[in-house]
Amino acid sequence: MRIDLHTHSSVSDGTESPAELLATARGAGLDVVALTDHDTTAGWSAAEAARPPGLTVVPGMELSCRWFPDDQPPISVHLLAYLFDPTHPGFAAERARLRDERLERGERIVASLAGAGYPVSWERIVEKSEGGVVGRPHIARALVEVGAADSVDHAFATLLHHRSPYYVAKADTEVREGIALVRAAGGVPVFAHGLATKRGRIVGDAAIAAMVDAGLLGLEVDHPDHSDGERAHLRDLAADFRLITTGSSDYHGTNKATPIGACTTDPDQLEAILAAGTGSAPFRD
Ligand code: AMP
Ligand code: FE
Ligand code: FE
Ligand code: ZN
Repeated sequence: MRIDLHTHSSVSDGTESPAELLATARGAGLDVVALTDHDTTAGWSAAEAARPPGLTVVPGMELSCRWFPDDQPPISVHLLAYLFDPTHPGFAAERARLRDERLERGERIVASLAGAGYPVSWERIVEKSEGGVVGRPHIARALVEVGAADSVDHAFATLLHHRSPYYVAKADTEVREGIALVRAAGGVPVFAHGLATKRGRIVGDAAIAAMVDAGLLGLEVDHPDHSDGERAHLRDLAADFRLITTGSSDYHGTNKATPIGACTTDPDQLEAILAAGTGSAPFRD
């Protein structure tokens, strides 16, 4: 059994439609794949409809959250959520808020880039997002399109990184609130790439303990952005707190170099997720 529990489609910041993503997953020999677009379930119905026979699809999402340390600015943390009820009112309202927040923030970034002479159009970016959520990767592609950057990576490195004068932060969900919402909706919250120092500032063990108190059920251990040491530490924490451990690629199509299935999850850990998730059912034969 090959299981990849973290992938993005074009409904957020991947480059393949949900149907194409599932074909890629099957082609790569996966038996189980989770669709975890940022802050939206907009790809779930297409994934259910396009599922190739023999492939199990775990409906999920990656919720953008923040941890507020006492002595430094908020730290961005990502929460994977599996098998929640997409119609749960509190959680649906929070997703709607995040979507509006992303739209407002994206428009501000684009306005300030345009003001500095980069010919990017907000209308075109929204149109190309096809009703999904808008993020910096969409702005990066627009910058490439108008010749202001050589590649998405180059656009991030020069104009879109979080210290850039064009960067605008967004008011992401407080992580313990996010965990509580996922649990209230019958879902399984798993801390995504929690110790990936290469992505920026990380939270400490005390924050992870607080997240466990709030209802966190798992840690993403094997992730392309984790070093061997970071994986070992997460595995120790998971053993201490009796948490589920996952491994995933965080596939984004051609927006990132990582192939689907680059890291995988053990079948017994998937079973624990399926047993804990009561808000929706996997799509399977
Ligand atoms: P946002 O949620 O709008 O702040 O955008 C963050 C997303 O941009 C992340 O989830 C990544 O998928 C993507 N991203 C961040 N850095 C890079 C990079 N250097 N190259 C490509 N994509 C990136
Ligand atoms: Fe992403
Ligand atoms: Fe993430
Ligand atoms: Zn991701």
